[in-house]
Amino acid sequence: MSIRRLPENLVNRIAAGEVVERPASALKELVENAIDARSRRIAVRLMGGGIDGIEVSDDGCGISRNELPIAFERHATSKLPDEAIEAVNTLGFRGEALPSIASVAQVRLESRVAGEDGWSISVDNGRATDPVPAAIPHGTRVRVTGLFERVPARRKFLRSARSEYAACLDLMRRLAMARPDVGFLLEHDGRTIFNLPPDQDRPTRVAALTDRDLKANSIAVDLERDGVVLGGIAGLPTFHRGIADHQYLFVNGRPVKDRLLTGAVRGAYADLLARDRHAVVALFLEVPPSEVDVNVHPAKTEVRFRDPQLVRGMIVSGLRQAIEREGHRSSQPAAA
Ligand code: ADP
Ligand code: MG
Repeated sequence: MSIRRLPENLVNRIAAGEVVERPASALKELVENAIDARSRRIAVRLMGGGIDGIEVSDDGCGISRNELPIAFERHATSKLPDEAIEAVNTLGFRGEALPSIASVAQVRLESRVAGEDGWSISVDNGRATDPVPAAIPHGTRVRVTGLFERVPARRKFLRSARSEYAACLDLMRRLAMARPDVGFLLEHDGRTIFNLPPDQDRPTRVAALTDRDLKANSIAVDLERDGVVLGGIAGLPTFHRGIADHQYLFVNGRPVKDRLLTGAVRGAYADLLARDRHAVVALFLEVPPSEVDVNVHPAKTEVRFRDPQLVRGMIVSGLRQAIEREGHRSSQPAAA
């Protein structure tokens, strides 16, 4: 028996199983790359729920010709600080997304660094072409088509275009809420879903992406304790929903879906809502980096807190205080 190394394209395809589960997960990686490139505007165009095509264009720093092929190499990243991995402040740093996506789809990436020529590279299920000149504005445009076409075992797990689109829309809302300083355009099958300018303030951005009536039916949350800051808005207990999808939670600027946090929200409203009803919230938690590990999983929607009870307590009391304050205010007679 001899021990052999796995060929690179097989390694990438295996890793793709972790990073790229469905169109929304590929989309997440591409938009996070655009954000990390310090883009001011990001445009996302989806076809058929992202199954038929995903295109992400940005006006960020771009990739120069020599680095284009490296961007598709495994574990190649421009984002790792020289020493401490703890110092990473970008959304990515593992250098896995592009090679993974490109191992299970056709990817065409065009990019231009300001003041340089533009170049384009195509990778078809792991096989890359040499860069060729491309005329594009500065920034980067990535197109992904034929996702899982050559991986039938994965393709058959894709749901309908409609539910893949729903996952993409949910993701885009969360990313756009996390970064009101960045402009986001979302199109699906040629239809504009939202088009948000850069430099919005947080309440305006949240309002643009949530239920139209939330603004009139919510209260501001604002609490600071032991260096942890909690802000955002909470729906009134009278403004509830049948599903928990309308809970938007962020830790240090990243959208998260975390049991501890959703449990805390549930706890705060426990006595105020029927069991099958869910509050609507957009909560932004700022925690010192030493208190939280946001890199638990490659998909990175879970977080691990050093002091989970502190965080839980803050969410529960932040929400309760806000709700009680509102209760007092509205039960007082209006001034004559
Ligand atoms: P990571 O984001 O973890 O570094 P990726 O595989 O997602 O790994 O991307 C590899 C590299 O390609 C990035 O480190 C970055 O240098 C470059 N890159 C990817 N997308 C973009 C983009 N939209 N703009 C500029 N550079 C990009
Ligand atoms: Mg990345």
